Amino acid sequence: MSLPFFDAIIIGAGAAGLFCAGQAGQRDLKVLLIDHADKVAEKIRISGGGRCNFTNRDLDPAAPHKHFVGQNPQFCRSALSRYTPADFIALVQKHGIPFHEKHKGQLFADRSAEDIIAMLLAECEAGGVTRWQPCSVKKIDFLASSASESCPGSYQIDTDRGPVSAGALVIATGGLSIPKIGATDFGYRLAQQFSIPLIERKPGLVPLTFDGAGWAPYAQLAGLALPVQISTGAKKTRMAFDEDLLFTHRGLSGPAVLQISSYWQEGTPLAINLAPTVDLPAALSQGKARSRKLVANELATLVPSRLADAWASREADWQRPINEASDKALARLAEQLARWELTPTGTEGYKKAEVTLGGVDTRVLSQQTMECKTQPGLYFIGEVVDVTGWLGGYNFQWAWASAHACAQALAATPP
Ligand SMILES: Cc1cc2nc3c(=O)[nH]c(=O)nc-3n(C[C@H](O)[C@H](O)[C@H](O)COP(=O)(O)OP(=O)(O)OC[C@H]3O[C@@H](n4cnc5c(N)ncnc54)[C@H](O)[C@@H]3O)c2cc1C
Repeated sequence: MSLPFFDAIIIGAGAAGLFCAGQAGQRDLKVLLIDHADKVAEKIRISGGGRCNFTNRDLDPAAPHKHFVGQNPQFCRSALSRYTPADFIALVQKHGIPFHEKHKGQLFADRSAEDIIAMLLAECEAGGVTRWQPCSVKKIDFLASSASESCPGSYQIDTDRGPVSAGALVIATGGLSIPKIGATDFGYRLAQQFSIPLIERKPGLVPLTFDGAGWAPYAQLAGLALPVQISTGAKKTRMAFDEDLLFTHRGLSGPAVLQISSYWQEGTPLAINLAPTVDLPAALSQGKARSRKLVANELATLVPSRLADAWASREADWQRPINEASDKALARLAEQLARWELTPTGTEGYKKAEVTLGGVDTRVLSQQTMECKTQPGLYFIGEVVDVTGWLGGYNFQWAWASAHACAQALAATPP
């Protein structure tokens, strides 16, 4: 008995899988899209605080290393150049979805992330895509064909809705973050089944934690947010971000920390300038010349008062009127606020991470098509690949662009 046959089966109906399915279907391919979760595109639904930061106008496709992390950020250049933020914006406009720019080129849906999901589903509908959801994949086999070089074989997929087969298999099962809404290691396990190398996976865009008594004085600052400059690494490997930092009960979060977390190496320190726009030495010595306020109160005119109080309480020399504080003590205060060095003990892990660093090694994938060079007809797109974007819409743009490159390639492959 012959199995139901599709030109392409896509596993994972998240950002990359939905987009790829719609694009391939609209190129006249017979497409089946499978996802094990009850609800479609859960990550899009919770993204961008429910408004989905769907792309970023500042993305430079010719220089992907500026906004993407991985063993070889240049890998994404071809796909990003062939499907740009302007292309996705045009699609959003075609569907009449209102959107706005928030910060540093980040574009969000005005109403809700549901608008983006509805758009992707409409695109699938327009492409006549068959969707099976919830549906679990039990087993995948590749049957090599000796009949023709142009058709090297097919994939037989055993699912809980029965067996199916396809000429091409696209893995769009994403990364490991937020397991409670359906993230699994499916893509990595499948890569291993076909002896495809993986780059070590780690949580990215994730809050950092600080265990032990050393953190106790800062735990009282939980909830405080302020603009900082944060950096990690030295010389050539140094990365720095000017963004907001948020104190939490267990450590640090906020955009500054999420961004730096993708570059931070375990056991190494971070350096944080807590008042990057203030000339602290000058401001404190002017304060000393004209004021009799406590150091903490004078400092509170320069940084948030909760931070000023917590910081000044750390040394007896800072717990006096500023005009009585020694120049040395004030210089030390300025220096420590401008360069707070601290070593995180860990991260909040996949339950809080927005993305997974690492994944399918890009050296085995074609950067034009996303097809695996060692396994014909097998494609990896989206976050499962070792390509991780910065916070701010870059990860979705990678999902759209890699999906688009794959769909183009599927349509160009002879049946
Ligand atoms: C809280 C949060 C907020 C975010 N906000 C943004 C943002 O605003 N902008 C941005 O650019 N990025 C954001 N991201 C990152 C972005 O969501 C991901 O990078 C993007 O969704 C990756 O797309 P993907 O299609 O590769 O994977 P996903 O969207 O994660 O989709 C993977 C799909 O595969 C399915 N799947 C997994 N395992 C199996 C299996 N075994 N069998 C069948 N199906 C399976 C899952 O159910 C899921 O539907 C955010 C992430 C999080 C967690």
